[in-house]
Amino acid sequence: MNRVKCIIIGSGPAGYTAAIYASRANLQPVLIEGPQLGGQLTTTTEVENFPGYPDGVEPFTMMEDMRRQAERFGTQFVSGIVTKVDFSVSPKKVIVEDTEEYESDAVIVATGASAKYLGLESERTYRGRGVSACATCDGFFYRKKTVAVVGGGDTACEEASYLAGLCEKVYLIVRKPYLRASEIMQQRVLNNPKIEVLFEHNTLQLTGEGKVQGADLIYRKGEPDEEMRHIAIDGFFLAIGHHPNTDLFKDYLNRDAEGYILVDGDSPRTNVPGVFAAGDCADPHYRQAIVAAGSGAKAAIEADKYIKSL
Ligand code: NDP
Repeated sequence: MNRVKCIIIGSGPAGYTAAIYASRANLQPVLIEGPQLGGQLTTTTEVENFPGYPDGVEPFTMMEDMRRQAERFGTQFVSGIVTKVDFSVSPKKVIVEDTEEYESDAVIVATGASAKYLGLESERTYRGRGVSACATCDGFFYRKKTVAVVGGGDTACEEASYLAGLCEKVYLIVRKPYLRASEIMQQRVLNNPKIEVLFEHNTLQLTGEGKVQGADLIYRKGEPDEEMRHIAIDGFFLAIGHHPNTDLFKDYLNRDAEGYILVDGDSPRTNVPGVFAAGDCADPHYRQAIVAAGSGAKAAIEADKYIKSL
């Protein structure tokens, strides 16, 4: 049993920033790093919109910088996944990899979000054999090939543009007759000769022998001019949004219908005193590293106040 003042769950911008603030407040925090060191940001190629890096920065470099900054003030890092929590008791219990048990006065949940899939059977069949939810992680395998990206938001446009730099051709499969992405991202996609946008298309299934070789699509489903179409592709990239990683906390923390942790107004306080939520696990709107970092700072300040009040 390890008895600590403050545990932070998650190693993205929210978790590391919370750790910097908590360690500078002398809370001697323990940060559980989770399954994806550095968080979702490490699945992008370059960060251009985080203040302080005028020339942009590689996400791994930025996350490593944040980690070192937290370490400098005494954060202790534990690699592993939290498998169970008990927030009904005080101090709160956090169990790592089913074996290592921590008791902590305050807990900061900064577990982020994960990519969504369409839910097709063939998507599961070809996972890792042509199906991916991260163009920057896997795009390299599709150099000079043909791929499809699903989605019409900023992520989909960003991924399609990135893949167009590597691939022969990129289809962007959009279920509505328009893109939801920001104007600048839309223009980037629509003006890229390598990208063909398939508006009003839905994916029915993926096909191929042992790996993705094609996709069956339906155009204008349910309309009089509905039509089945097939495209030959080597890779299929999902970019249809994210699901917050909060299932572990469902018995204790109030969440919205999508699973995002509900917090008290613009504070990081959850319904359990002493448990705070920061970053994308509680943010269905902004999903930006800088916003996550800011909420991590708020969570640590609130955790410090809470601990002092005990
Ligand atoms: P969004 O929720 O914005 O977009 C999801 C897209 O996927 C929508 O076009 C949606 O279609 C489509 N979609 C959802 N479910 C399905 C489905 N089952 N079948 C087909 N299509 C589906 O998610 P993003 O990840 O793109 O963006 C999330 C947030 O992060 C946004 O606020 C975005 O602005 C931000 N972001 C900012 C970036 C930047 O500034 N550089 C980069 C990436 C993201 P429909 O429109 O029909 O609902």
